[in-house]
Amino acid sequence: MNSRQKDGMLRSIATDCRFTSGYTGKASLSPRVMEAMATVPREEFVPRQLRQLAYENSPLPIGEGQTISQPFIVALMTDLLCPDKDDIMLEIGAGSGYQAAVLSRLIRKLYTIEVVPALAQRADRLLRQIGYDNVEIRRGDGYQGWPEHAPYDGIIVTAAADHVPAPLKEQLKPGGRLVIPVGRPHGAQDLLLVRREEDGSFSSRTILPVAFVPFIRTGEPADDR
Ligand code: SAH
Repeated sequence: MNSRQKDGMLRSIATDCRFTSGYTGKASLSPRVMEAMATVPREEFVPRQLRQLAYENSPLPIGEGQTISQPFIVALMTDLLCPDKDDIMLEIGAGSGYQAAVLSRLIRKLYTIEVVPALAQRADRLLRQIGYDNVEIRRGDGYQGWPEHAPYDGIIVTAAADHVPAPLKEQLKPGGRLVIPVGRPHGAQDLLLVRREEDGSFSSRTILPVAFVPFIRTGEPADDR
């Protein structure tokens, strides 16, 4: 894929970052995060017929009524998680696997859950094919998290819920970060950054108005494939 297109995407992310700095308090993102955005081949995660658009700074449909998020939002959410190379994190909403791929370049291990079986299967296959082998994926409703590997240094939710699921907060380490869009299914939503303090209490900050696909509750716990 044309590296000029990728450079364009990185520049567009930097521009969005400056435009939104009044909300986010960030004029730029960490060089490690930008490096991961430069490394992961987004064209592999979008449908074949949309590959020409892979490095546009916009969300794209991935089938099953779902979307791959806008690159700026992927980069911002990744940055908000403050990923460290030794971290273990959890994602709810694997979708195409793109956000998982980006995060996997920056931390030790990522667990991710996807409620749509066809997407879970496709993301799993793709991540293995590219060789991103520090990602483990389960299908199911991620509301209850993935307690077996808890607590996590970071948790990212990529679908909008009407509240922050309590089980996810409980699966954060002291000092851990949770990034989640919260709001109405097709209405006003805010990206929230929740932090578990060293004494176990939680603090929360609104980062930016966003538009995510709705969080789907099936009640079916995440299971093995
Ligand atoms: N991170 C994805 C974004 C996908 S859109 C990417 O980089 O492509 C959000 C995803 O969340 C969708 O695939 C949707 O099916 C999934 N989702 C919605 N509710 C969920 C739930 N309760 N548990 C797990 N996944 C969920």
